[in-house]
Amino acid sequence: MWKNIEAAPADSILGLTEAFKKETNPNKVNLGVGVYKDDAGNTPVLKSVKAAEAILLEREQTKSYLPISGDPIYASSVQKLIFGEDSEVISNGRAATVHAPGGTGALRVGAELLKKFNSQAKVWISKPTWANHKGIFAAAGFGLAEYNYYDAANMCLDFPALVASLEAVPAGDIVLLHACCHNPSGVDLNEEQWKQVVAIGKAKGWIPFLDFAYQGFGAGVEADRFAVEQFAAAGVDFFVASSFSKNFGLYNERTGALTVVSPNREESVVAMSHLKVTVRVIYSNPPAHGGLVAATILSDPALYQQWLGELNDMRERIVAMRTALVDGIAARGVDRDFSFIKEQRGMFSFSGLNDDVVKWLRDNKAIYVVGGGRINLAGLTSANIDYVCDAIAEILK
Ligand code: PMP
Repeated sequence: MWKNIEAAPADSILGLTEAFKKETNPNKVNLGVGVYKDDAGNTPVLKSVKAAEAILLEREQTKSYLPISGDPIYASSVQKLIFGEDSEVISNGRAATVHAPGGTGALRVGAELLKKFNSQAKVWISKPTWANHKGIFAAAGFGLAEYNYYDAANMCLDFPALVASLEAVPAGDIVLLHACCHNPSGVDLNEEQWKQVVAIGKAKGWIPFLDFAYQGFGAGVEADRFAVEQFAAAGVDFFVASSFSKNFGLYNERTGALTVVSPNREESVVAMSHLKVTVRVIYSNPPAHGGLVAATILSDPALYQQWLGELNDMRERIVAMRTALVDGIAARGVDRDFSFIKEQRGMFSFSGLNDDVVKWLRDNKAIYVVGGGRINLAGLTSANIDYVCDAIAEILK
C-alpha cells in the first residue's frame, strides 16, 4: 500500500524535539516545544496534582466508562474556572461543557460540531497562529482564511489591521481567537481592544471560537478570562476550547474541555445533545484520569490554593526569564532592542530572530528554536541563560 506514497513531513514542532533528543552537544538548549520547564530544566508533576492523585487512588472504585460528556463535576469545575464562580452563564445554564482529550481534542470536537450545522462557513485564524490550528480545522473539512494580527516590522499587535479584517468576516463564519498568551507571538489584546473585538463580533454575526490553552500564564486565572467574560456578557453564541496541559502540567493525560455557550438554557440543552453525538463517533467518552485530577483540585479549596501558587510560580519564572534574556542580550552590547519581549505574555515569544539566525543557533550552538523565531521562554534556566545570551550576541553583533 505505501510503496508509491511519499512519507509525510514530521510535525514542525514535535519534529524539532525528536532532532533535539538526538543532538550530542552537551550544551544543547531546547527553546522549541511548548512545555513548561522549571529552573532545573524539568517538567515535574505539580504537587497539587500528586496530592489529588493520592486522593483518587484511595477513592477510585471503578474504571467503568465515564459519561460521553465526562464527569459532571469536571464540567462544572471547568465552567467556574473559565467564567468565574458567580457568572450568570452558569446560573442561567447557558453553557454546555464536555471533557475532551486535551485542547486539541476540544478544538476538533468543536470543529466537527460546527461543520455539521455550518458547513459552508470559513474558519478565520490569526496570522500567524499555532501550527496545528490549520490542520485541525482543515481536517474537519473547513476552508480557512487568515485575519491580520501581528505587525512583524514593529513586533507588536497590528490592531487597526485586526479590526479591518474582523469587520470583513461574513456572518456565520468562525473566528478562532487566542483568549490569552497568543501562540506563537506572545502578543495579546488589551481589555479595551477585546471590548472592540467583541462588539465587532456581535455586530457582524460571526462565531467566536476561543482557544484557551494558557489560562493563568498571562496575568493570572481571573485576569486571563477577560475575553471569555466579555463574549459571555455580549450574549452571543461562542465556543471555548480549554487545555489543562500547561496550567496543570497534565500534558500526557490529555485533559481539556469544549464549552459551547448559547444565548439561553433551551438552546444550550440542544447544543449538548449534539455535542454528545459528535463525541460518541470520535472517541465515545473521554479518558478519565486527568479530568478527575483537575476536578479534584478545582473543587477542594486547599488544593485549589496550592495549585494557584504553583501556577503563579510558573508564570513568574517565565517573566523572570524574559527579563534575563532581554537584559542579558543588551548587556553584551547588542544594538538591537529586544525590550518588546518583556511586554509579551505566556510561554512564547516571537523573538524577531530570522530563520538564518535560527539555523545558525542550531548548527553552531545546539540551541533549538522553531522556524520563524518562536522561543519557549520556559526552556531558559539560570544554568543556560548566559550561554544563550552569548550565542545571540555572537551572531547579532
Ligand atoms: N492551542 C494552543 C494555542 C496551544 O498552544 C496548544 C498546545 N501547544 C493547544 C491548543 C493544545 O493543547 P493540548 O496539548 O492540550 O492538546
